[in-house]
Amino acid sequence: MPLLDQSSLIGFGFNPLNRLSEKRSDDAFVDGKRREASARFVVFVGEVPVFGVQRGGHDALFTYEQVLALGQPSSDIFLGQGDNRSGNAVDDTGDNPDQVPGLGQAALFAAYFDKDHAAPIAARADLDMVDLRSVALRGLVAPALLGELGCAKALLSWHQHHRYCANCGQPSSVSSAGWRRDCAACNSQHFPRVDPVVIMLATDGDRCLLGRSPRFATGMYSALAGFLEPGETIEDAVRREILEESGIACSQVAYFASQPWPFPSSLMIGCFAKALNNDITVDTTELDDARWFTRQEVANMLAGEHADGLSAPKPFAIAYHLLKAFVAGDVF
Ligand SMILES: [Zn+2]
Repeated sequence: MPLLDQSSLIGFGFNPLNRLSEKRSDDAFVDGKRREASARFVVFVGEVPVFGVQRGGHDALFTYEQVLALGQPSSDIFLGQGDNRSGNAVDDTGDNPDQVPGLGQAALFAAYFDKDHAAPIAARADLDMVDLRSVALRGLVAPALLGELGCAKALLSWHQHHRYCANCGQPSSVSSAGWRRDCAACNSQHFPRVDPVVIMLATDGDRCLLGRSPRFATGMYSALAGFLEPGETIEDAVRREILEESGIACSQVAYFASQPWPFPSSLMIGCFAKALNNDITVDTTELDDARWFTRQEVANMLAGEHADGLSAPKPFAIAYHLLKAFVAGDVF
């Protein structure tokens, strides 16, 4: 088994491919991988993943031939390839359980189609389009494939929103197998961005602090969160966000786990923080409510058994795992 840390157990967090980053700028190598009979593709139309459903389940892997039968993709990205770093263990389907199911040691690409392909694909009985949040929520694919789909969607979103050079304003072009954009006018190179977000539980002994955003489902409370700013440490961002949103000052901050969050391309950095005071002042421009919850209440929320019907985020979100660790007493 590979090293499985806490982050790899959270939705979008298990990404076992060898990215072969040193080979991405070798166009001949990448094209050779694309044309190998064993190569597989995940497919997006707009920002929505496409699945084959001919065998009942949702199959995210397509051959190059199957991709071309859908039309000419607007672009593709080399995501990496399966390898045997973690040994040659296979499960009863013939797959290594530590890798992307059905991929073996083959190369994996993401192929992108414009939205005008949506209608013909939606009309086909053997294909299904499911937005990525629903894929995660419904558990439609194995954790390793969810990680790859999240990676592919984050890169897709970056390309869609960074088509012009930020230095000189001229159109830039995809290079390095989808992992860079180059500007021919000023020779700038641009790399995919990741936006760090801190998400945290302030704790006070047997209680933790949760808030309600106006966009949450009725009755749902979650960990407070906010973007990390330039010049700020993770610890300072955690303390600042908690203070701004709830009026609670904190001392010690402890890192818990992280989660790639491809909506559009964040990295959620999960932490715990020790509260110094009890009196909450809710920032009503950000939150509907914030309050303290006891361990028992949180346990009831995770189990869907809270007396007032209050609920917590689902298991594919890092907030769920922060709350689960708090219930287990596994904090500082
Ligand atoms: Zn430029």
